[in-house]
Amino acid sequence: MITRRRALLTTTGMLVFLIPGAAVETYAADEVYDVVITGGRIMDPESGLDAVRNIGIMGGKIRMISEAPQQGKQTIDAKGLVVAPGFIDLHQHGQDVRNYRYKARDGVTTSLELEVGTDDVDKWYADREGKTLVNFGVSIGHIPVRMKVMHDPATFLPSGDAAHRAAVPEELVEINKAMAGGLRRGALAVGMGINYTAAASHGEIVDMFHLAAEGGASVHVHLRYLGMQEPTTGLAAIEEVIAAAAATGAALHVVHVTSMGLRDTPRLISMIEGARKSGLDVTAECYPYTAGATTLESALFDPGWQEQQGVTYKDVQWAKTGERLTAETFEKYRKEGGTVVIFFIPEDVVRTALANPIVMIASDGSRITGPKIHPRGQGTFARVLGHYVREEKTLTLMTALRKMTLMPAQRLEKRAPEFKNKGRIRVGADADITIFDPARVIDRATFDEPLQYSEGIPFVLVNGVTVVKNGGLVEDVFPGRAARAPITH
Ligand SMILES: [Zn+2]
Repeated sequence: MITRRRALLTTTGMLVFLIPGAAVETYAADEVYDVVITGGRIMDPESGLDAVRNIGIMGGKIRMISEAPQQGKQTIDAKGLVVAPGFIDLHQHGQDVRNYRYKARDGVTTSLELEVGTDDVDKWYADREGKTLVNFGVSIGHIPVRMKVMHDPATFLPSGDAAHRAAVPEELVEINKAMAGGLRRGALAVGMGINYTAAASHGEIVDMFHLAAEGGASVHVHLRYLGMQEPTTGLAAIEEVIAAAAATGAALHVVHVTSMGLRDTPRLISMIEGARKSGLDVTAECYPYTAGATTLESALFDPGWQEQQGVTYKDVQWAKTGERLTAETFEKYRKEGGTVVIFFIPEDVVRTALANPIVMIASDGSRITGPKIHPRGQGTFARVLGHYVREEKTLTLMTALRKMTLMPAQRLEKRAPEFKNKGRIRVGADADITIFDPARVIDRATFDEPLQYSEGIPFVLVNGVTVVKNGGLVEDVFPGRAARAPITH
């Protein structure tokens, strides 16, 4: 159903907004707002609005969008700049103070860890409440839950039993119980990385989809296989999860489709398009880089990894030093454990995914574990806008914004209704707003110097509070709020 809003100018000079099913909100034409953004080019992917307007913000919400001037206690001059909904990153592993600074400078106002997720939803939110620059949220994660139940020794991705052993019936009961409990505590989604829990049976995976379906949650999944080596291909892996989605009714979201499909990515995307045409709720995301990143001790580097991924030692970079691996250093560092960057995605595959209207943008940003981590956590959104929209013309600006704002909000809004007020510039929406210069916006984070802030994003607001001002971070503000599904008990 389409909801329409009308603003009427009454004889007394009051603007009255008529919102079906909601209280009528009235703002006088001479209202003084908390913040007014003047003269910017508003781009809203939901309504299609692309025009110069002024925005009045009060109480953390957008209260007025008008051609007429407005008065505010604080005014942001956005002349010559694009005013867009704040970017929603569905896939960001690093979720600490330092990461949030990079996210804000890259235009991200909501940072979500939905792939790996957590095994303790309450603690995850409590650790961040009142302390963050941007909004934050998490999934209940099959990986960490399996690690806890099976006593895996690793801290992030499994290296022991959770990767390499089938769960016994008692463990399966515990895993199911913990996953269902996480959903009741308001996890935004179900997170899975079957590649990392390689010994998890197909039945265990289908159980997770059943739980997601019961909770109205989407499953954000890193597929069981990547690449093109039969029979363990990205295509075979997507068959598993599309079948599970079809059989259970759960919504499916395929993460970083490019690093799963590699050269076969167009076929994976066409499987998703076909599933959607058949009525399934299936979506996907990608990041704008030709390399992936993971941990060296994980199951991704079990024997056969070179054939599977179509790469060898020299294509793998050790994050702590930036050195490319050899057979000797591979063995040494795999025992030690740590982050690696893998150069294995062809450039034309990146472009194909970015240009496809159903593939969202998400960073898969890393925790900061060394000086040479993957740059994607710091630069994904500015890189799409600057490099792929402006320089390469791979996609239009409005399409790119849709993939960063409206589409991720829509992915989550059935389970977490608060997302109906995110990813949009409209009256009543949360004042999460990113203001950038379309002629200058660009990523600065590279594989050599990954810890660099993006540029050309002079203002970012989170819940109406300015967190980036004149291109710099504002210190000692913590307007980020928990993005969480309703708690059922
Ligand atoms: Zn992943």
